[in-house]
Amino acid sequence: AIEARHLVKRYAELEVLKDVSLDVHEGHVVSIIGSSGSGKSTLLRCMNLLETPDSGDLTIAGESLSFSQNIRAGVSQNTRAGIKRRQLQRLRTQVSMVFQQFNLWPHLSVLGNVIEAPMRVRGLSKREAITLGEHYLERVGMADKRDQYPAYLSGGQQQRVAIARALAMEPRVLLFDEPTSALDPELVNEVLGVIHGLADEGRTMLLVTHEMGFARDVSHQVAFLHQGCVEEIGTPAHVFETATSERCRQFVSSVA
Ligand code: ATP
Ligand code: MG
Repeated sequence: AIEARHLVKRYAELEVLKDVSLDVHEGHVVSIIGSSGSGKSTLLRCMNLLETPDSGDLTIAGESLSFSQNIRAGVSQNTRAGIKRRQLQRLRTQVSMVFQQFNLWPHLSVLGNVIEAPMRVRGLSKREAITLGEHYLERVGMADKRDQYPAYLSGGQQQRVAIARALAMEPRVLLFDEPTSALDPELVNEVLGVIHGLADEGRTMLLVTHEMGFARDVSHQVAFLHQGCVEEIGTPAHVFETATSERCRQFVSSVA
């Protein structure tokens, strides 16, 4: 469902992703681990097109995009830019992201948060969006809070609403960027439980996490990112037990 090839992303002088290739097959869960600053969030943001890679290729749900600087800077690119923009928009609707800080809209109720993008981006009627929203709130165990405002919810409840909001876009791929890192320890499990359920349903997911036990449980593949490169990738058993990279072995034993 995702094929990333040779992705490069720079911020000025800093090359944050150096040459990242990564596949997430349909129905699979891939976890990304690695130390702070290794480029995990940047990689997810490139997959979601929140950031535009400087070069490389990205295929999401059968739709391919090639990135290169001359496409951005070239002359008479209006038509191409137009095609690209429409393609980008299409691609963005195939992928939903859940953030560490939930990012719920504070001025909207729980249900309001969940139905906003389906109406605005997918063009559903309010009635259709509400049916869909109620379905996914039920799915994450938050249906009874539909009229509540985010400020009155616990972090774990807010994150479950954020997951329902992502699901309501009915994306082909779900991205999670440290979805439990901002939570009090006693609230982590209710969110991991929901994500585990989604994995069991066979959803395609790419997950950045520091929860090694969970990554091990839920993932088909684990990728260890180091300074913008995939330094180790394989089954959880391989990455956590028989990694060839010394850095990967050190990282894993330091967080275990
Ligand atoms: P963490 O575990 O702390 O979340 P990470 O692996 O997600 O780290 P990124 O957030 O992807 O790391 O950042 C990788 C590098 O890119 C860091 O050195 C960061 O300072 C830099 N960086 C990220 N976003 C930007 C930006 N918008 N402008 C400039 N530099 C950035
Ligand atoms: Mg990050």
